[in-house]
Amino acid sequence: MKVPFLDLKAQYASIKPQIDAAIQGVVDATEFVGGRALKELEASFAKEHRAKHCIGVANGTDALVIILKCLGVGPGDTVLTAANSFIASSEAVTLAGAAVRFVDCGPDYTIDVAALERALDAAKKAGKPVRAILPVHLYGRVCDMARIGELAKAHGAAIVEDCAQAHLGERDGGVVGSFGAAASFSFYPGKNLGAYGDGGAITSNDDALALKMRMYANHGRKEKYDHEFEGTNSRLDNLQAAILNVKLAHLREWTKARVAVADRYRERLAGTPNLELPAAAPGFGHVYHLFVVRVPDRERVRARLKEQGIDTGVHYPNTLPSLPAYAHVGQGKGEFPNASAYESQILSLPIYPEMSEAQIDWVSEHLRRAVT
Ligand SMILES: *Cc1c(COP(=O)(O)O)cnc(C)c1O
Repeated sequence: MKVPFLDLKAQYASIKPQIDAAIQGVVDATEFVGGRALKELEASFAKEHRAKHCIGVANGTDALVIILKCLGVGPGDTVLTAANSFIASSEAVTLAGAAVRFVDCGPDYTIDVAALERALDAAKKAGKPVRAILPVHLYGRVCDMARIGELAKAHGAAIVEDCAQAHLGERDGGVVGSFGAAASFSFYPGKNLGAYGDGGAITSNDDALALKMRMYANHGRKEKYDHEFEGTNSRLDNLQAAILNVKLAHLREWTKARVAVADRYRERLAGTPNLELPAAAPGFGHVYHLFVVRVPDRERVRARLKEQGIDTGVHYPNTLPSLPAYAHVGQGKGEFPNASAYESQILSLPIYPEMSEAQIDWVSEHLRRAVT
């Protein structure tokens, strides 16, 4: 049976008339940059994440850079982020002009709070307190924001959430995008809420910061030529916003479907030797952008699944500090016992809302066979 890693065609087929009408509406109005669709998206996306403000931007990487720059993070500052993430999380720190330091993850792949505390203490002792913490809700699992919040407060560090993989994620009664000073989201097509091209958003509950970020993303202006400072051009265009409006209306139901796929995987695969499943989280505590298991001899397992028509992924094959891009940071593998150990074991199984029970069962059966 063919099981793609994700199936954007199936999703488009399920909403084709609305998507086509939304696109046509923008073209008919020739309202391409800034417009009603964008305003509507910003309002509803903010509401979903219990944030006062939402600013559409060009992509999730820009979102992070804009937040850091508008918080005043720059040369001389240190920002802590996860050793296991997509490079955008750390790249944004460098682009803002600050220095990045990496922190290990726990067994659930989110930032290890004890390791974070050690890093904060070490920076303080060295007389260079950490300016910001950039937790990543990796794979869709929400970080322990209650404890991260306490640590940030104690150390006077700002929190910038990377929610690129965790739209609608919740923990301890809070929702991602509202835990820190500001948060970044990505609408890259394969994300839980994906555009038909690049896109991103920032959420924030801070009025002054939100205004600054909105201006920064639009050449430092409020009106046409009243530039108060230099910013950049990072806008979410109206075609993407119109598409995202259609899709956002389905996001809760799609997220529930992702959780249901994860629950069925967990049920089918329970008790399988040589297989570490992601632990369950209540409600939207994990929104399953990815369903990541750990297996020994991963490449052999991947090949066996491929023979059965099953596509898998690895997110990510190298920890960030072990990449050539971060050789200059000088943090060795020994500083990240978990992330380094998981590098060769992690395997992302297919997961998307339209996945059928037969497909889930097919993957489960062949994964069980491949590891035992
Ligand atoms: C996708 C992603 C980003 C960057 O988003 P883009 O829209 O591709 O720029 C940032 N962080 C994480 C964890 C991501 O997965």
